[in-house]
Amino acid sequence: MKVAIMGAGLSGLSCAIELEKHGIEPYIFERRSRVGDRFINAEVFAGMYSRPILDEVRYLSEELGIFVQPASNIKDLIVYSPKKKAVLSGPVGFVSIRGRHRDALENQLARQVHSPIHYHSEHTYEELLREYTHVVLATGDADYVKKIQNFHEDATVTLIGVTVEGEFTRNTVFTWFDNRFAPHGGYGFLIPFSPTEATVVLAFAEYKGLQAYDKTALWEMFFNRVCTDLNQNLKVTDQFEVNEYVMGIAESPRLGNTFFVGNCYGALMPGMGFGQFASILTGVYAAKDIVGLGRYETLTNELRHSYDHSRTLRRMMETLDNDGLDNFVQMLNGVWGRMLVHSRVNVLKWASYAARPWVALHKGPESQ
Ligand SMILES: Cc1cc2nc3c(=O)[nH]c(=O)nc-3n(C[C@H](O)[C@H](O)[C@H](O)COP(=O)(O)OP(=O)(O)OC[C@H]3O[C@@H](n4cnc5c(N)ncnc54)[C@H](O)[C@@H]3O)c2cc1C
Repeated sequence: MKVAIMGAGLSGLSCAIELEKHGIEPYIFERRSRVGDRFINAEVFAGMYSRPILDEVRYLSEELGIFVQPASNIKDLIVYSPKKKAVLSGPVGFVSIRGRHRDALENQLARQVHSPIHYHSEHTYEELLREYTHVVLATGDADYVKKIQNFHEDATVTLIGVTVEGEFTRNTVFTWFDNRFAPHGGYGFLIPFSPTEATVVLAFAEYKGLQAYDKTALWEMFFNRVCTDLNQNLKVTDQFEVNEYVMGIAESPRLGNTFFVGNCYGALMPGMGFGQFASILTGVYAAKDIVGLGRYETLTNELRHSYDHSRTLRRMMETLDNDGLDNFVQMLNGVWGRMLVHSRVNVLKWASYAARPWVALHKGPESQ
């Protein structure tokens, strides 16, 4: 058996770790010059998206033998809408670092892989198919999967981000919902990754046929709001922009001996764009199938359901005006917020069932 992994990111490296445990040394091809060769940013593992699992980091180590050390745990999630604020306290999740940083998640995974990683790879998928018995597509984007099979695309997102210097409590993450700067079910985040550094990111979907936004104006409005809510003049030290980041899901997790993992599978959940945990899971599941310990389609079934629930919640958020967002954030202050953080019940799944009639009746931007 000769297994090629295309992409040394979260899903590709997790797949390699699991294959090696079963005595298979994969051939890993990475387009860039090193693992995580991109801007540094902080991301979150949000446990509420993975119920009944309460602690994703613990689950990865105990159940899958994948060991990651987050930068910090999140004790408070502060949610703002135009006029409301909610504080969700408890074991909300974890902050991880990504990109060109020694402690980046992908670098932590790379240190658990023994097989060589071939950098500056220009191999195409077609070339790998000819040379290897199995190909694991782990490129973090939808380019190949769209060419190869039906990929159900749900949203194309623009992400504008900066690294800022300021004073932060490492365990407190902030998020904003406001149609004036985060239209189309968009959101903003501030995620600290040290007591003095944080990532601030604004994400919003862009739909074909709808008027394009003045990104600079949206960003300035958002960033002013962040500085006001934190009562700090945050200093920008780095910036990045990701355009046409596709949220969607592959119709078939596996075609022949090609496995679609990470974002190529549909790990990126459309609701809030979380994809780290599902990416690692898909990598491990693909490896399990390759070594004969399960069927990839079956192992990923639960993730497909999560994707569907998350898509419904996105559609619902897209229909809310700012008063609706205020009501939503107000609700998080009560029992819903407590359940999201503390309960093993998959609140988001039930919320998505409850949202279906609303979504069916109200047109969002994607259907205009
Ligand atoms: C700005 C931003 C913020 C995010 N925030 C969060 C968050 O807070 N929480 C969360 O859970 N998720 C978040 N996500 C999503 C999460 O990062 C992704 O879902 C996850 O990294 C996908 O893993 P992957 O293995 O599919 O791809 P990646 O980890 O991106 O790895 C893909 C790898 O493939 C390589 N590659 C690409 N093309 C080729 C090629 N042709 N040949 C060889 N190699 C190739 C790339 O260089 C890269 O190393 C965020 C994403 C972005 C962009």
